Amino acid sequence: MALLEIKTAGDPVLKTVCTPVDKITKRLRKLLDDMAETMYASDGVGIAAPQVGESIRVCVVDVDKKNRYDLINPVITWREGSVVDNEGCLSCPQLFGDVERAEKIRVEYTSRFGKKKTLEADGLLARCIQHEVDHLDGQLFIDIAKNITKGDKPNRKRDA
Ligand code: ZN
Repeated sequence: MALLEIKTAGDPVLKTVCTPVDKITKRLRKLLDDMAETMYASDGVGIAAPQVGESIRVCVVDVDKKNRYDLINPVITWREGSVVDNEGCLSCPQLFGDVERAEKIRVEYTSRFGKKKTLEADGLLARCIQHEVDHLDGQLFIDIAKNITKGDKPNRKRDA
């Protein structure tokens, strides 16, 4: 595995709508592993392909360092409730802000082995998946956050 360079706000790749993956290859699985390693090394809870310069619809999330999800072509098909919480982003160093997200979601995706999957999530996992899917649509959290602050620490550590 290898650490990848994280693109930061201002890089056009982060504003580009990503292309769906049509074929799961060995190269794609290596990219997912490298993205995960990069995310863990940066103490993040999620990472999307455009953050490492790849404009394709894949992301990796792991909010408890125990359950890693590799999401290929994720589509959020159901949302319920609304909750505001503080977020950060590996591509927006030292920026934190409050973002309103659905409280619960259902996401359909393809696994790294090509299986169609459905995941229901709430709490931080739901927030993180919504943040990453926004990345795949070229949207950064700072585009929608309120009360943005600059500093070394958020209210709670949850960079994605
Ligand atoms: Zn992010």
